[in-house]
Amino acid sequence: METEVKTTCPYCGVGCGVIAKVGDDGRVSVKGDPDHPSNFGRLCSKGSALAETIDLDGRVLHPEIAGQMASWDEALDLVAEKFADAIEKYGPDAVAFYVSGQLLTEDYYVANKLMKGFIGSGNIDTNSRLCMSSSVAGHRRAFGSDTVPGTYEDLELADLVVLAGANLAWCHPVLYQRIAAAKAARPGMKIVVIDPRRTMTCDIADLHLAIRPDGDVALFMGLFEHLIASNTIDQNYIAEHTGGFAEAFAAASALSFNQVLELTGLPAMQLREFYRLFATTEKVVTCYSQGVNQSSSGTDKVNAIINCHLATGRIGRSGMGPFSLTGQPNAMGGREVGGLANMLAAHMAIESAGDRDRVQRFWQSPRIAAEPGLKAVDMFRAVADGRIKALWIMATNPVVSMPDADAVEAAIKACPFVVVSDVLRETDTTRHAHVLLPSLGWGEKDGTVTNSERRISRQRPFFDAPGRARADWWQMAEVAKRMGFPGFDYLSPADIFAEHAALSAFENGGNRDFDIGAYETTATAEYGALQPFQWPQPAGATPKLTRFFADGGFYHPDRKARFVAIEPPAGNRTDSRFPLTLNTGRIRDHWHTMTRTGKSPRLSGHIAEPFAEIHPRDAIEIGVAEASLVEIESPHGKVIVRALVTERQARGSLFVPMHWNDQFAAAARIDAVVAPVTDPLSGQPASKNVAVRAGRFRAS
Ligand code: SF4
Repeated sequence: METEVKTTCPYCGVGCGVIAKVGDDGRVSVKGDPDHPSNFGRLCSKGSALAETIDLDGRVLHPEIAGQMASWDEALDLVAEKFADAIEKYGPDAVAFYVSGQLLTEDYYVANKLMKGFIGSGNIDTNSRLCMSSSVAGHRRAFGSDTVPGTYEDLELADLVVLAGANLAWCHPVLYQRIAAAKAARPGMKIVVIDPRRTMTCDIADLHLAIRPDGDVALFMGLFEHLIASNTIDQNYIAEHTGGFAEAFAAASALSFNQVLELTGLPAMQLREFYRLFATTEKVVTCYSQGVNQSSSGTDKVNAIINCHLATGRIGRSGMGPFSLTGQPNAMGGREVGGLANMLAAHMAIESAGDRDRVQRFWQSPRIAAEPGLKAVDMFRAVADGRIKALWIMATNPVVSMPDADAVEAAIKACPFVVVSDVLRETDTTRHAHVLLPSLGWGEKDGTVTNSERRISRQRPFFDAPGRARADWWQMAEVAKRMGFPGFDYLSPADIFAEHAALSAFENGGNRDFDIGAYETTATAEYGALQPFQWPQPAGATPKLTRFFADGGFYHPDRKARFVAIEPPAGNRTDSRFPLTLNTGRIRDHWHTMTRTGKSPRLSGHIAEPFAEIHPRDAIEIGVAEASLVEIESPHGKVIVRALVTERQARGSLFVPMHWNDQFAAAARIDAVVAPVTDPLSGQPASKNVAVRAGRFRAS
């Protein structure tokens, strides 16, 4: 009998609703869910190829210890014993979890509860650190909480959409389709793209600002100054709802227009046109993604953008505001449950004694992490220098995706005890596991994810678990029980979701914005039927979205937002030895390290091999022709990829996609080249501005 299941796409942060149909013959087909408010039936190339990526080829179907088949009891006993041993001998900070924006919220919740509440360390971090942690830090500075005020509808209602460091056409394709459709219906709507590369997103742009790497802070400081000089600021809003304006103004005034030109590398006419558009358009949304976040000045970039929206009062109203987009399907869900080393559950603050006490009492846990744990780059440094004795990696492939990837691989290899939970048996990371645990994949998992506009949707199973694969939350709960911890007797993800919702509302969640208390009594049947909804959703409230900051109130103690005084970074990292700037990112049809999309011939057909985009004049200078092999090198590593000579790329820079690994192409793991430089506040790596050199590859 045919079955149809409503679920959610497991790729990007747009979070599209998918209808999966399983035919009598067991074959699966997918289509967009017309009722899902994120995509209204649309799917992009990746989403529509989902059915091609869910076979059992390459799956790990039973636990393994040292590469040998083991029972669940044997594997879980060993994990519990090794973690308990390390904690007893070296303390709770000698163990760590490195998790993923691919995990469901329920998995994330249990991982965070186990590490922060029962093991008593903050050492749980996530590959979402590489995705949006600068936005989290920027929101907390400006708003007093990590609150994303935007919705997708705002992008359609805006008269000016500014896309900063966000190639939506390839990275958030359905959102791009929604904006393109809105612009087609309303030709007066303007779109400005800020990106060093001329990406596909520029196809709908009225203005493309091909900015220098890391010129964004100067660009928005210049805009801030222009808004003041042109008297387009909202004096009443600033006086009533914000603090720190004078300091931010003083910092911006110290930067001359000529310095802005120099730091951004933009022509004066373009800069003036952008400033004019922003100043004269009331409904402006500034949307930003990895080009802003993945920077050593990522947090300052976020605050430079927010400063401009606060100065004009363009926030908290329909069709306007700053809007950070998440890269992964559940980066936002991880934020909700404290899945970052510097956050606590339910958006509470780990630095707050009151919040720590509240969460500990709710969990009835014996201890609570007293301070933030190690962020991703620092975590793998601690693995390398022997401080971490036991590491559990879930649903991610850091040997490919972390900066300085070769050093990360060496660290994992040398770690005394490594557990990896994954769906695949052979990844660059699983090969170093002492214990490999078989997890559920898309179509088998059961839980929730939250997209960029804070919309919680269900991922529902339509297949039985293959072999002995089990949910990630179950694996962690079983280890917790074996370590002697109470509070992990969950029978289903519905139990976990209800507990998570109850914590969000417990003692008013510490007066923070994330409250889905309406769902704290969610039973299994209701959970099964859960419809997509946006938070907050407090108990007793009618089910409608509350627009954040509509009343001008924020989450700092005085309820005012903060301007942040910023200094522009130098930007340029190149020197005579490494004269080119490497920028890494996604392509349209692959996802992360290609463990899923690499299975689809259709998706692989779009771009079949790794490449480096290079400007024609740079290509001549370094002696590479179109389609020849180019060697790219930094002090950290080297890759060899195909040259793609194009004027889309600015002079002095290269773009290489992040997806390929040794499994798909030799010597193409670009993160081996990326330096482990991070933003000082967010800890997010700077993957868009790496000094490298390049030359024609010569086989020796
Ligand atoms: Fe999936 Fe993102 Fe494509 Fe939507 S836009 S179908 S969530 S990859």
